[in-house]
Order: sequence, then structure tokens, then C-alpha cells
Amino acid sequence: AAISVMAEEKREASFDADKAGVIVKELRQQYDSGKTKTYEWRVAQLEGIAKMVDEREKDIIEALNKDLSKPEFEAFVAEINMIKSACKLAIKELKQWMMPEKVKTPLTTFPSSAEIVSEPFGIVLVISTWNYPFLLSIDPVIGAIAAGNAVLLKPSEIAPATSSLIANLFQEYVDSTSIKVVEGAVDETSALLEQKWDKIFYTGSGRVGRIVMAAAAKHLTPVVLELGGKCPVVVDSEVNLQVAARRIIAGKWSCNIGQTCTAADYVITTKDFAPKLIAGLSSELDNFFGKDPLNSKDMSRVVNLYHFRRLVKLMEEDGVSDKIVLGGQTDEMQLKIAPTILVDAPKDSAVMTEEIFGPLLPIVTVEKIEDCFEVIKSKPKPLAAYLFTDNEKLKKAFVKDVSAGGMLINDTILHLTVDALPFGGVGESGMGYYHGKFSFEAFSHKKAVMYRSFDGDSSIRYPPYTLKKLNL
Ligand code: NAD
Repeated sequence: AAISVMAEEKREASFDADKAGVIVKELRQQYDSGKTKTYEWRVAQLEGIAKMVDEREKDIIEALNKDLSKPEFEAFVAEINMIKSACKLAIKELKQWMMPEKVKTPLTTFPSSAEIVSEPFGIVLVISTWNYPFLLSIDPVIGAIAAGNAVLLKPSEIAPATSSLIANLFQEYVDSTSIKVVEGAVDETSALLEQKWDKIFYTGSGRVGRIVMAAAAKHLTPVVLELGGKCPVVVDSEVNLQVAARRIIAGKWSCNIGQTCTAADYVITTKDFAPKLIAGLSSELDNFFGKDPLNSKDMSRVVNLYHFRRLVKLMEEDGVSDKIVLGGQTDEMQLKIAPTILVDAPKDSAVMTEEIFGPLLPIVTVEKIEDCFEVIKSKPKPLAAYLFTDNEKLKKAFVKDVSAGGMLINDTILHLTVDALPFGGVGESGMGYYHGKFSFEAFSHKKAVMYRSFDGDSSIRYPPYTLKKLNL
């Protein structure tokens, strides 16, 4: 109840399109002054964020705990530390990233030279979500600043403590004339979306992604859409069962109890292997969270009552509830749901057609492991796909035949921590990507620049176009 009251209070303080227009004008003035394009400004802001994270770590952990009961360890590893690394990398590499890239020119343009210049888009809007409310708000902002843009961040109202903390901290630690935060929900976001932005970076559901893209189309504004989907985990029988079970749990219940865009949404395994896998998962779940997982301090809660009831409904659907083989306990007061495994829920049930985004893990059994391809292809392209196997042939086929934003063999989630890998979706899981240098590029226009001198001016290209010239 406290959470919804806070959200209501925010709504009352909402602003309209006129107010959004004023902010956009201010940001445009800042950008047009040229300040944000300088190396010095960019580094100073990145250092400001790094300092903010160092000095206010406790406040950030506390806000994440308020919003999601996020365990301190998870808050540190999956949010704070990720931002520290992203900042550190951007500060270290920025000069290099900003350097124009020389490219070869053809003989037909001799003498000439050419280069690709990374130019900021201008003023950019970052709309963020609630599951990693600190990381997913600040990480794109780091890219936007590194690329020299003025930025407006709209954090998620569903994580109000983190949203308000970010708004306050940005006032203190960065240039708040060029990096602004607007808190709020649908009304505020809609007002912002009416404005003309030079780039919009959105993280959240495909439903709202469509709204964002339609609004952007009115101004021909390019978008990055970081969406979700049903991420499959294929488990072959040729595995180290204990390690596989631990890593599946780490990528599901230890990751914000499955409220993660790249969390394991469902498992595919063979009918023969399923009982062993369930036993393995069950035993490791006991080791991790004990016999009373609802009261484990090492597990987050469901973000709010709406999502809690949505998840309970998924479990209670006709034909689904009797497929639960593990867990199923709930505690509405604490907004907690125990790790729950279902086997062979009906194909057309909501748990098998919608992104779960919570602690339920359906297992789909198939006759032979190669049948996994058909199951995966029957659903929209996922943000991540995982495979556990020692079978090299299967690994190759998986990489070749499964289309996904990214994939990881023999683990879950960890690929997101590799700076050199782009992070983003494909098809319904999104478009565009970021992380590491890709974040800089996501917020930069690649401007083609060619230089010529007045020398070597051949008459061949100019009229009159005589046959003699063509023959040459
Ligand atoms: P959401 O789309 O409901 O909300 C995200 C943002 O959109 C919030 O800031 C919210 O205020 C705004 N918003 C909501 N309704 C709006 C409307 N009608 N008009 C304009 N703006 C609106 O998404 P969510 O429930 O917060 O997030 C869950 C989804 O996000 C899942 O699908 C998940 O997989 C995905 N996700 C993706 C990533 C990624 O990096 N790819 C990361 C986290 C979550």
C-alpha cells in the first residue's frame, strides 16, 4: 500500500506537455552552447557519477531494498558494481572513442582522405524500468554523456525510492542544467514523448516499446528499444548437473527472483532427463534458500501487488496449477513467491505464452533434445537464449540456428557483464544495443566526412559528356 501511495503522490505532481516543452528547450540551449560536446565536460560528468556511486553506495542499497527487498549482495554486484565498471571504462576509453576513424578512399576520388566522425545526436530521452532501477537508469545515461549529448532521464515510478534518490543525486553530482531527471509515470512519460528528441532510449515492455516507437516516428527520432521476452534454457543430458542447476538458479531466482529481462523464462529438456534436472534444481534451491524460501533474506520480493497477483494468476490458471512440481507457496503480505517449477504446462497457457518476469519456471519436455529448436522458433525471438551441454555439435547448431539478442552456453546472464559484447534484442526483444563502446555508439551519429584539395581536378566528371570521356 505504501508503494501505491507514493506512486499516487508522484502522479499529483505530474507535469504536462508545456512543462516538458520548457525542459526540452532548456536542454536544447545547453546542447547548442557546445558545452556537452567537449571532452572535459563529458569526463567531468562521468567522474561525477563515479563519485556519486562511491560516496552514496549505502543510500543506493537502501533504496533498492525499499523498492525490491533486493539483497545487498545482489544490489552491489548487479547494479552498483556494473555502474562503477561502466564509468571506469568510459573515462579510460573516452579519448579513443571520440577520435575520428580514418578510412580509405577509392582511386577515383584521388587525391582525398576521409574519416568517420562520432557526433552526438543532441538531446536524448532515456526512459527506464524498475527491475534494476539504478543500473538501467544510469547505464544508458553514461553512454549518452560519453557521446556528448544533453540528457533527460525518466526513471520508473514502480521503483519510487530509487527514482527519487537518482533525481536528488543528479542535482548534487552532475551538471543538472544538461542532465535532468523527470520522475513520474504514464502522464509524465507521455508528455515527454510528445516532444522532439534527437534519440530515445527505452527499456521496458514491448507494449510500451510500441508506444515509444510510434511517438518517435512523428519526429523521425531514432530509438533504441531494450525489451524482454521469453528466454529459453535448453538443458541436455550431457551436463554436469550440479553446476548446471546452480547456474540456472543463479540466472533465475538469485537474479531478482526472475524479474530480469534475461532471466531464464522456461527450460526445455528431454522427458528422460527432466526428473534428474528437477531433483538437481530442488536440492540446490534448498542449499541456497533453505526449507523456508519465503523468508530467505537472500531472495528479493515481487515488486508490487499488481505483479504479485499477475504471477499468482499465472500459477492458478486451469490446467496449470496441477503442473506444479515444486514450490507454489505465496505470501501476499511480504509480496513473496517461492521458487516454483511446473512441468509441461499447456502450450497455450499464459505461463507458456507471456513473459513470466517472476519466480515461476516452467519446464517443457521433448522426446529428443534437438526438438528444442522447434519450441524456441514457435515463440518470438528472445533477448537471451541459454544452452547447457558438453555436446559440441549441439552447441554449434544452437549458435547457428537460434536467433536471440545474445546467448550463453553453459551459464546464464553472465554475458551481460562482458563490455566487449553488445547488449540488445532482436525482433520482439528489441532493437539497437549498448554496453562498453557500444553505449557510446548508441548515442553517436556516425558522420561521414571527406576532404579534398583543389589539386588534381580532372575534367572527366564534368559535362559535356562526350563518348570519348566514357571510353577513357
Ligand atoms: P513498462 O514498459 O511498463 O515500463 C517502462 C517505462 O515505461 C516506465 O518508465 C514507465 O513509466 C513507462 N510507461 C509505462 N506505461 C507507459 C505508457 N502507457 N506510455 C508511456 N510510458 C509508459 O515495463 P516494465 O513493466 O517496467 O518492465 C518489464 C519489461 O521490461 C519486461 O518485458 C522486461 O523483459 C523488460 N526489460 C528489458 C530490459 C532490457 O535491458 N532489455 C531490462 C529490464 C526489463
